[in-house]
Amino acid sequence: MRGSHKIARIAGIDVKVHWTFLIILGWFFFSYYRETSNVESGLYGVGFVLAVFICVLAHEYGHALVARRFGIRTRDITLLPIGGLASLERIPEKPREELLVALAGPAVNILIAIGLYAYLAATGQLVNLVNYADTISSLDPIYFAENIFAVNLILVLFNLIPAFPMDGGRVLRALLAMRWDRAKATRFAAGIGRTLAVGFVFMGFFGNFWLVFIGLFIYLGATAESRQVLTKSILEGYKVSDVLMTNYTQLYVHEPLQRAVELLLSGQEKEFLVFDLENIVVGVLTREALVKALSTGEANMRVKDATLAVPVELQTSMPLQEGFELMMLEHANVCPVYNGQHLAGMLTQENVQEFILLRGKDARDDAEDIYDGTEELEPSSDTLVTR
Ligand SMILES: [Zn+2]
Repeated sequence: MRGSHKIARIAGIDVKVHWTFLIILGWFFFSYYRETSNVESGLYGVGFVLAVFICVLAHEYGHALVARRFGIRTRDITLLPIGGLASLERIPEKPREELLVALAGPAVNILIAIGLYAYLAATGQLVNLVNYADTISSLDPIYFAENIFAVNLILVLFNLIPAFPMDGGRVLRALLAMRWDRAKATRFAAGIGRTLAVGFVFMGFFGNFWLVFIGLFIYLGATAESRQVLTKSILEGYKVSDVLMTNYTQLYVHEPLQRAVELLLSGQEKEFLVFDLENIVVGVLTREALVKALSTGEANMRVKDATLAVPVELQTSMPLQEGFELMMLEHANVCPVYNGQHLAGMLTQENVQEFILLRGKDARDDAEDIYDGTEELEPSSDTLVTR
């Protein structure tokens, strides 16, 4: 995520923090400091936020390490003011694996809570657990432990709300997918999520306004999840060769860049493969790169001045879903497709999206609750995140 900075690498996973997190630290410092005009209280506030975020980080590591057991890597874990995000390479599709990965996060918070409870009980200080809010600014380490205990319970309850993008939504989908196919399970889970979301928003208007925020968050998460799964189910069974473009203009490295501009303005082509004199693909030219090159204002530019390295190469026999995911992962708008060693054609993201849109019309009849019929399908995001 833009604005995030790596602060550590633990168990082979980069830990990143979004810069806005500093605002939270500052805000807590000053709101504690203001109460007592005591720097120590301010530092207590900072310590409290850091402790909460260590619990959130541990939660994300719960997801990431269980996912690793199923051969799924985690690109990074990012801490944001609203919580943590573990960017898993993919969400496991086997229901049992998804269930375990989703449960692993809250399970970590339960373990932390049990540990703190044991500590409080052993020291005979198990008091005021219900009134944690009143004691939040006390400097006593016992109160500190009680507050962190309460925070972990809240994290468990909040994350187990059975709605995407919460862990509870994935738990629900995984349980349903043990009986139904994944697309149907997702539709059903997303429906429950949206119903809950509307309920939260409604309750929020009459009570705690935070519920409105949470409701909207869940509503958007549920919609995004059902789209992603539907996109996948549309592409299933097709190969890259089914969407292959074989009719396109070849651009050569030595040609004037103006030729690409003319092609772009005159026709349907927005992305190009760039060839050398031996007719070998040496790069790609995207509309973005073309515009960027032109904006430098230099005259007499050649195609090679705007050419980008080939982002990814696909094979005609590859499942379309896999090829499309690879393209999104590498941010490739266009890529060459080979049949063994031979160039067979090219594929653009736009191509695949059109294909999804056309195919989606049939799928939409079965899933009209996902689309309102006017919206365009968005590609599934390249990073599958879990909270
Ligand atoms: Zn989680």
